[in-house]
Amino acid sequence: MDLHLQDKAALVTGSTQGIGKAIAAGLLREGARVVLNGRSEERLRAAVQELGAESDTSEKVHGIAADLSTPEGAERLAREASALAPVDLLVNNLGYFELKPFFEIGEEEWLHLFNLNVMSGVRITRALMPGMLERGHGRILFIASEAGVKPTPGMIHYSVMKTAQIGLARGLAEMTRGTGVTVNSILSGPTNTEGIERLMGGIAEREGTDIATLQRGFFQGEGATSLLQRFGEPEDVAAVAVFLCSEVSSAINGAAVRAEGGIIRSIL
Ligand code: NAD
Repeated sequence: MDLHLQDKAALVTGSTQGIGKAIAAGLLREGARVVLNGRSEERLRAAVQELGAESDTSEKVHGIAADLSTPEGAERLAREASALAPVDLLVNNLGYFELKPFFEIGEEEWLHLFNLNVMSGVRITRALMPGMLERGHGRILFIASEAGVKPTPGMIHYSVMKTAQIGLARGLAEMTRGTGVTVNSILSGPTNTEGIERLMGGIAEREGTDIATLQRGFFQGEGATSLLQRFGEPEDVAAVAVFLCSEVSSAINGAAVRAEGGIIRSIL
């Protein structure tokens, strides 16, 4: 199927590793031009080099280092990405997660995480969506989580922010009526990324076990409803994201698309 992504300009936030990098790689494979983002110049350079070599389209990959926990970082990223080419496809992928009991999450931490996980997408979308509406074409995605509709007790702050992203995507979609712009969210499920390795590696160390044992245990407990019964791979989410970025997905707008291995036990 031709997804008509040739030479479309994409920006994927938080894309030096994990799901973001897989989405960037998928878009490149379909012929899009992609701007990668992360905080560290060094990791960014490595990711740009890796994806450029992999897809043999090095001139189509750029990297912009910016810390998206600040308004300045988000605004500069939007400005510099637009200077390369008007952005057609915006993937708000960046998201930080950690396990923490509710009563231990302080005021500052809530606000920092809200800035990082929600306001980063608000700020970049505010900068780039008007251009899409003017040009009459664009795709905006928020990489949310099943935790946004099935809050995880051990990470309530993160879950609330994923719920916010789902609401944000739907609200923004209401502004696209009659245009060629769509805004959707993707509910990812537990996925094997560097971020998950960080989180589960920490638990494994504290509990004197390993990540594989923890993951097996997960499907006997909290993850019992999963139909996939394994952690997904970044490419599983990327395939859905690339499709939603494509021209052929224009009938999907304002949707929370599930790519969570069926862990949410409901029809809708
Ligand atoms: P990850 O931790 O592996 O990668 C995060 C990326 O964000 C990295 O490239 C990192 O450099 C970048 N980043 C972190 N802080 C930044 C900052 N302040 N400014 C700019 N860049 C920054 O993450 P992941 O597991 O691939 O998750 C990607 C998205 O998918 C997140 O929104 C996450 O909430 C969501 N998600 C992940 C899972 C999972 O199990 N991995 C499940 C559901 C949803």
